[in-house]
Amino acid sequence: MNRIICCNNRIFATKAGSNVYRLRIPWRPLSNDAAPLLSSQNAGNPEKESEAKQYDIAIVGGGMVGLALACSLASRPLTRHLNVAIIDSNPALGRKHFIKKEDLPDPRVSTITPATISFFKDIGAWQFVEQHRHAYFDKMQVWDYTGLSYAKYNARDADKEVLGCVVENTVLLSSLLSRVQETDLPKKIYPSRLNSMSILPNSSSSEVDSTLSMTALFTHGRLAKLELEDGNSLYVKLVVGADGGKSRVRELAGFRTTGWNYSQNAIICTVEHDVENHCAWQRFLPSGPLALLPIGDKFSNIVWTMSPKESSEFKSITEDNFLEAVNRALDYGYGPHPTPSILGSSDLFSWLKGGISKSANDCFEIPPKVIKLASERMAFPLSLRHANDYASKRVALIGDAAHTVHPLAGQGVNLGFGDASTLSSVISEGIAVGADIGEVSLLKKYEADRKPANVMMMAVLDGFQKAYSVDFGPLNILRAAAFHGAHHISPLKKSIISYASGEMRLPLFA
Ligand SMILES: Cc1cc2nc3c(=O)[nH]c(=O)nc-3n(C[C@H](O)[C@H](O)[C@H](O)COP(=O)(O)OP(=O)(O)OC[C@H]3O[C@@H](n4cnc5c(N)ncnc54)[C@H](O)[C@@H]3O)c2cc1C
Repeated sequence: MNRIICCNNRIFATKAGSNVYRLRIPWRPLSNDAAPLLSSQNAGNPEKESEAKQYDIAIVGGGMVGLALACSLASRPLTRHLNVAIIDSNPALGRKHFIKKEDLPDPRVSTITPATISFFKDIGAWQFVEQHRHAYFDKMQVWDYTGLSYAKYNARDADKEVLGCVVENTVLLSSLLSRVQETDLPKKIYPSRLNSMSILPNSSSSEVDSTLSMTALFTHGRLAKLELEDGNSLYVKLVVGADGGKSRVRELAGFRTTGWNYSQNAIICTVEHDVENHCAWQRFLPSGPLALLPIGDKFSNIVWTMSPKESSEFKSITEDNFLEAVNRALDYGYGPHPTPSILGSSDLFSWLKGGISKSANDCFEIPPKVIKLASERMAFPLSLRHANDYASKRVALIGDAAHTVHPLAGQGVNLGFGDASTLSSVISEGIAVGADIGEVSLLKKYEADRKPANVMMMAVLDGFQKAYSVDFGPLNILRAAAFHGAHHISPLKKSIISYASGEMRLPLFA
């Protein structure tokens, strides 16, 4: 049994779990002057800036996933007193409530799953999202340009209230930041970027006095040293790379990656309708999927995947021509509307155990017309990238730093939030048994939990991307049959919905 003894604000582990590092030094949260929120308070004071500081955790990257980790740490009894440095040069992190209700919609949005909504509620960030524009949706229609079939999903197919919620990225970021700011988590935001990182091997002496100086602990391999672009140096027990797809932490830690570029770009923008949209629409076109996602009021967001050449054309054509192209692509363009009769009716599936899905008789609908562009058009190159390892001594990767996926099913940041939740839970478990939170055997527990789930989702999304990028008669029929099955067969539909909702069961084997 593990026993934790608290004495003068120090915690000693009397027996640690079998596969975690046994701590011979007393664990205590690092104490320093981390409480002030922004190191810009030190700006102009080179003497103070050049002083090294000590933290329990440095989160490199204050994007959505990095801030979610900070909120998650702040919400757990055993981690809420950890000293945390957040490093990111995004100026928005230095402001409170950096979005206003009247601001135009952010063209970057995320479709977030019911599992992510629960996570946001647990960490106390959902109340901030609800104060801004967001759109729950309970219906989804997916079809392709061949006109052979379509699939409609309704939350009621899986006895759920919603399939997801679309939220602008600035709303998610500002909500997480507001939550971090209001918690008691001792934190400091460094408006800078990580330059270099050094981690030395553990010294041979097993007992190290934690009251040694930072440099001595670093020399004994008990702290990592980070150098920031603004000249600050930090000593930390754990470095978390939440610094996105081109992660500097990943590079400095020497993690290899596997992946490829898709030779596809996504054009994203916000559009306006003259009615409210409550459904998520996705049509697979010869060059890639086009999604029209409700974001609240009369706005929707477009994510349109196409070749880089097409994307530069669609980015530069006039607004009228662009809107016409979108309306065509969501309606009769590239091929006819699907009709249920082509592959037969729901009678075909009536013999199945579990029966016909509740929405099997829902008809194909044409999405609402777009009438106005409400934001600039932005283009993003798409790639798949996966770090072969998520953890090594004193380093863990989360979010896009660990995995970048195709956006066709809106799963990327949801996977990152899953990482943040699991890593904070593993850190908390480590503290409970008196482990060193930077010890590799502890961090590998995080990797073992998240890697299979992330790899499975990446494989599913990559399979979709490949299946829909070929225009070949027999394959078109197979795809139509898959749509047809997904539309009619209740257990299959339920499994697809629950997998896409963040309940990590595999669609076909649940
Ligand atoms: C077109 C498109 C549509 C998408 N739609 C969806 C969707 O609907 N649903 C969904 O779940 N996902 C979606 N995604 C994926 C989602 O946007 C990403 O998964 C998400 O942004 C990753 O968040 P992150 O915090 O890990 O990384 P990022 O958002 O990339 O944040 C990384 C942060 O690290 C900082 N940083 C970088 N380098 C350094 C450094 N050296 N030092 C300090 N800080 C640094 C950056 O300033 C940034 O703030 C989409 C992606 C694209 C391209």
